[in-house]
Amino acid sequence: MAETLLLTNIGQLLTMRGPVPRRGRSLADAGLVKDAAVLVQNGRIAAAGTRRNVERLQRARRARKIDLGGRVLLPGLVDSHTHLVFAASRVAEYEMRIAGASYEEIARSGGGIRASVRKLRAMPAAALERQALGRLGQFAAHGTTTVEAKSGYGLDLASELKILRVQRSLARKQPLEIVSTFLGAHVVPPEYARRRRAYVEIVARQMIPMVARYGLAEFCDVFCDRGAFSVEEARQILTAGRACGLEPRLHAEQLARTGAARLAVELCVASADHLDRVTPGDIKLLAKSSVVCTLLPGASLHLGVPFAPGRALVDAGAIVALATDFNPGTSPTLSLPMAMSLACDGMRLRPAEAIAAATVNAAYSLRRHDRIGTIEVGKQADLSAFDVADYREIPYYFGVHLAWLTIKRGQILYARDPKQA
Ligand SMILES: [Zn+2]
Repeated sequence: MAETLLLTNIGQLLTMRGPVPRRGRSLADAGLVKDAAVLVQNGRIAAAGTRRNVERLQRARRARKIDLGGRVLLPGLVDSHTHLVFAASRVAEYEMRIAGASYEEIARSGGGIRASVRKLRAMPAAALERQALGRLGQFAAHGTTTVEAKSGYGLDLASELKILRVQRSLARKQPLEIVSTFLGAHVVPPEYARRRRAYVEIVARQMIPMVARYGLAEFCDVFCDRGAFSVEEARQILTAGRACGLEPRLHAEQLARTGAARLAVELCVASADHLDRVTPGDIKLLAKSSVVCTLLPGASLHLGVPFAPGRALVDAGAIVALATDFNPGTSPTLSLPMAMSLACDGMRLRPAEAIAAATVNAAYSLRRHDRIGTIEVGKQADLSAFDVADYREIPYYFGVHLAWLTIKRGQILYARDPKQA
């Protein structure tokens, strides 16, 4: 059992207490407490508030004390969109793109997602798991305590199951929480290039029932975009997923405006992700819905395209979340603080809004808001401390590693200061 911890001398505690999900103005409500303390017992938050109130509790006196020295404490960051398990980076394509080739040109020449598929199919599960384990350590070192992870580099039944089983094995072996999403409809694999209809049928009628039967995923996702799957195909696959108990998510309006955002609203999916190309009409529809709009500015930066209209979505009243989209092709970063910087600098979100988007709203999109995403008595003790005195400095110092202490269910995953480990 995790030990009892008293985190004290917290300069700013952002509890993120308040209505869930956050929309509009309430996105900036950080529930800030100055000169605070948090008591952790049995992996849960036992008390959180001003230092005076928490320290005088009987239970607090017996706890192991961690002095934060005036630093900032947030809920553990929730990365609600990643492609965690892949075989290799795509650095060669990176150079091609820098030299002027577009993402879609690279895909047509056999690169892109299909290149990742070739390598993943050839790599044994144990090797994939070893690599992903290293990445999870990096996530924790950047303040992340929960990671959504998608399959989608397998694109045949055996390889998709291989990825999802690696994720399940990792979820059991190491402390970070992994939420699995089946993304068999990432692109049409090369062997079905002339028979895409048949591939959609295989995803809907063979892969989804198998994934559901083995309990290997909670969500089903489709890359609905130019060069991937159409709105009609996405509707068929997500409906089949829902019938098997997999809640839908959607890659929508990233490379081209296809009408995917409207489909997301029609199907009431848990999350519509990217949204770089949404129209003002799409924004209005999304704002009236319960669909979480997950923004992925790392992908826009890496592809050199304009950012999604984050400010407009927040102002319209949409539920906005923020994630890394960690993947080898379009967003090779696992730093949520970096995504926050991009959301502030590139989409004009305020720092408190970016933090809410990467904690409470991201937890809501993963249907875990009753356990994680805020710091409140009874919730899981998932906590991230940063080496700053003012929370706004987390996005402000972009690209600077500031994570100082990461705790999952009361267990220390990462400590920059070896005294705390
Ligand atoms: Zn993605």
